[in-house]
Amino acid sequence: MYDVKSMSAEEFIAHEEILETLDYAEKNKNNIALIERILEKAKLRKGLNHREASVLLACELPEKIQEIYNLAEQIKKDFYGNRIVLFAPLYLSNYCVNGCLYCPYHLKNKHIARKKLTQEEIIKEVTALQDMGHKRLAIEAGEDPVMNPLEYILDSINTIYNIKHKNGAIRRVNVNIAATTVANYRKLHEAGIGTYILFQETYNKKSYEKLHPTGPKSDYAYHTEAMDRAMEGGIDDVGLGVLFGLEGYKYEFAGLLMHAEHLEAVHGVGPHTISVPRVKQADDINPDAFEYGISDETFCKIAACIRIAVPYTGMIVSTRESKEVRDKIIRLGVSQVSGGSKTSVGGYYAPEAEDDCSEQFDVSDTRTLDEVIRWLISKDYIPSFCTACYREGRTGDRFMSLCKSGQIQNCCHPNALMTLKEYLVDYAAKETAEMGERLIMKELANIPSEKVRKIVLERLAKIEQGDRDFRF
Ligand code: SAM
Repeated sequence: MYDVKSMSAEEFIAHEEILETLDYAEKNKNNIALIERILEKAKLRKGLNHREASVLLACELPEKIQEIYNLAEQIKKDFYGNRIVLFAPLYLSNYCVNGCLYCPYHLKNKHIARKKLTQEEIIKEVTALQDMGHKRLAIEAGEDPVMNPLEYILDSINTIYNIKHKNGAIRRVNVNIAATTVANYRKLHEAGIGTYILFQETYNKKSYEKLHPTGPKSDYAYHTEAMDRAMEGGIDDVGLGVLFGLEGYKYEFAGLLMHAEHLEAVHGVGPHTISVPRVKQADDINPDAFEYGISDETFCKIAACIRIAVPYTGMIVSTRESKEVRDKIIRLGVSQVSGGSKTSVGGYYAPEAEDDCSEQFDVSDTRTLDEVIRWLISKDYIPSFCTACYREGRTGDRFMSLCKSGQIQNCCHPNALMTLKEYLVDYAAKETAEMGERLIMKELANIPSEKVRKIVLERLAKIEQGDRDFRF
């Protein structure tokens, strides 16, 4: 029944295959010889399949777990260097016709404030985001064919790309909206979106149906097959994710990797990113009501195993996680974080009153973007606002083949330095700017090619004189 190339959700995410995988992982969780063989294979940096990776996730041997962490850290360094890309979510509308039990936007919630931004309000929100220094957004909306039709999303994308305020610009709009048709995905592709992000929430069909009792999202197959339709519509960067806490994490982990394997097998390109959100406190949602909540330790282990299993896939950790958790997890393979986020509709331009709250969930990391940047620099990461790959047409398999050959490093590192420089000149607080300048000077020495280093130096000087948007 399990068929990685099938276009039917229940065949490429076959329940039986997941159960057998979990059984195999459980039986081998302390099988040192097998774990060592899997780690040796992982060191080749070509990834692992869902069965192999599930054994690592199940492993309970402290020494081997430490090896898993060390390898994840090393693979992250090899593929992503010390760069961390920054983004912010932009909530367009929280009108929603679904009945998701974990989300406060569900239709039956009558006391949450319902809001939808007009194009004028989007200009104000995006101007506020530009003034923070953001260049990359993920737009978010509830599913409501009447209130949030695709035309509204397309208009909003067009508005966002055209806002030019001071030196600000949003250069990449990623989109996190409900599963839709091939024709609609094609329109999103033509509108120039970056990644299409859709969280599976849970890969377990039975749990999925219980958690999505009503609304269009209740159709498991339609939701699970969405990425295939997105790719058919021309979108070749897609972002997967599960909402940890809804179902057993080992089940979700196997499902997530099977989904990645399916995309690779059918479309020749795996997911561009994987997000690892955990259920959070929200308006009428209590995360403790979900029986599968995971500890911070397990959360870190999941991240490390994802990094090892799919080395070329970016990993995103949002402000759902606290500074303390982000401190721990970031080195294990995270490549993107959000900063200064608001999960309310219109929250960047005008903070909401308590009795007028439209938030999707409570943010745990409440630091400003500048504080997040300073934190990253203090930990020797290069905060990057780079959007070059997608704007240079390096998406899908073109991005992946560059990444796999290691060539991507020649563009990413200098691009990170140049976009950080823009941030420091235009938006940073004095202390952040000083720390950032020191980091750039230090990192210049790590550009291997003398020719590239010379070009970067020239461009850094030009940024100080007012030029913007250089990229390799
Ligand atoms: N409505 C779209 C959909 O159905 O995919 C857009 C996504 S929604 C705005 C973004 C994501 O937030 C959801 O996919 C879900 O995983 C996550 N989310 C919902 N409720 C949450 C909660 N209480 N805590 C943390 N994340 C939550």
